[in-house]
Amino acid sequence: MPPFTIRFRKFVSLNTTIRLREDHMHVSLSDLLEGAPEPVLRAIAHILLAKLYKRPIDPTQNHRYKRFVTSSAVMRQTELTRSRRGSKRYLGPQGRYYNLEEVFESLNTRFFNGFMGRPQLTWSESLAKRLLGHYDPAHNTIVVSRVFDRPSSPRYAIEYLLYHEMLHLVHPVKMKGTRRCVHPAAFKADEGKFPQLKEALAFLKRL
Ligand SMILES: [Zn+2]
Repeated sequence: MPPFTIRFRKFVSLNTTIRLREDHMHVSLSDLLEGAPEPVLRAIAHILLAKLYKRPIDPTQNHRYKRFVTSSAVMRQTELTRSRRGSKRYLGPQGRYYNLEEVFESLNTRFFNGFMGRPQLTWSESLAKRLLGHYDPAHNTIVVSRVFDRPSSPRYAIEYLLYHEMLHLVHPVKMKGTRRCVHPAAFKADEGKFPQLKEALAFLKRL
């Protein structure tokens, strides 16, 4: 097997390329695939190698990949990311007390069958109290206010904030006539599935 160099790059689409040059394999993938579940990454590896060596593609692998990239969450992320890209500095997911990637993955398993591609996750730089969490489509990033990264913050409050932003990736904005509906009925129904919704909202209100 030749040595591999695999890179996730900021493509504006789900572009993937594979090249064999001087006995060295070069693979480039869109960073939109970076948080993809392992079975999906394995399917991509299978498809790329089959194409390179002109071998048949296993339909199961093909189906697994297609199902992932056509899931509404991924399509929405792709579309939003395409809209604009720039550079912006963030603190990253590891806070003092909580790691947002760890919280994200546990929510992903519990509510999305592990199928949501992970966007960038970061604590905010400021101790914002008005904007507690938001999704930044330009950088495909969920930002959570650093005020929550303290031992007195219950985990369910952080989970709720992240879960809410994850639902924005699943539910596009609906137009009601000329009005934008950011939290349509389907969004609210999903939000209601969060077991400690009441406690979380009460905590945010106190804060
Ligand atoms: Zn919202």
